[in-house]
Amino acid sequence: MQLIDSHCHLDFAVFDPQREALLQQWRRLGVCHMVVPAIGEVNWAKVMALAEVHQGISYSLGVHPWYVGDQSSNAMANLRQHLAARPAGLVAVGECGLDLRSQVPQAGQIEWFEAQIGMAIEHQLPLIVHSVRANDTVAKMLRRAKPPCGGVIHAFSGSLQQAQAFWQLGFRLGVGGVISYERANKTREALRAMPLEALVLETDAPDMPLQGQQGAINTPAALLPLVTLLAELRDEPIMDVAKVLCDSTRQLFQLADPI
Ligand SMILES: [Zn+2]
Repeated sequence: MQLIDSHCHLDFAVFDPQREALLQQWRRLGVCHMVVPAIGEVNWAKVMALAEVHQGISYSLGVHPWYVGDQSSNAMANLRQHLAARPAGLVAVGECGLDLRSQVPQAGQIEWFEAQIGMAIEHQLPLIVHSVRANDTVAKMLRRAKPPCGGVIHAFSGSLQQAQAFWQLGFRLGVGGVISYERANKTREALRAMPLEALVLETDAPDMPLQGQQGAINTPAALLPLVTLLAELRDEPIMDVAKVLCDSTRQLFQLADPI
């Protein structure tokens, strides 16, 4: 069984001491590819370098809504330049989006998200979208701009209606640790009812551990319990679920077939 992690922050320092050993361990578990989203100028070079050094790693470049206030005045121009150069391994724009929780600074979020949607359109790339308490606003912005390559609503949390709206806009839904939490009933129901082709797997490692693993460092090894949970939730054979989600992720990010 092959599994792809469509969203993991492998560049984070917590993985520095034993990244190579961990990658080998995850590969043995069937994790054949990982997409590493950037969060801002601060890690663009690092995610690019990771993909150059290790096989089976792709990345996105962009600015996460939490960090829009930390970017230099040249950040937008620099991002455009990187995307235009289209380095090998670059598969998306992001992680970008909106986080409308009151504890997150709001200044600049809309402008940065709008700009990154524009860049995705210009450079024909999918978007990796962070949407927290913002699904309806995000859907409205995407409906207006209609990015042709779609993307993924990472760590989707929301109603079936919201899930369907994103899927109609060409966006898949990132299925992660959320489905292991019983209180996330609305989201679990939505992910149970959506077509399998609308879903991709993700861990958001090192964050978002499965229920019962809180406090531990999450890793792409969690894809196995995740796909098991999703198959149980949908009452479908695990091999089928794994295969469809793997193909769907490859299609979305235009990933080459495994060697
Ligand atoms: Zn993330």
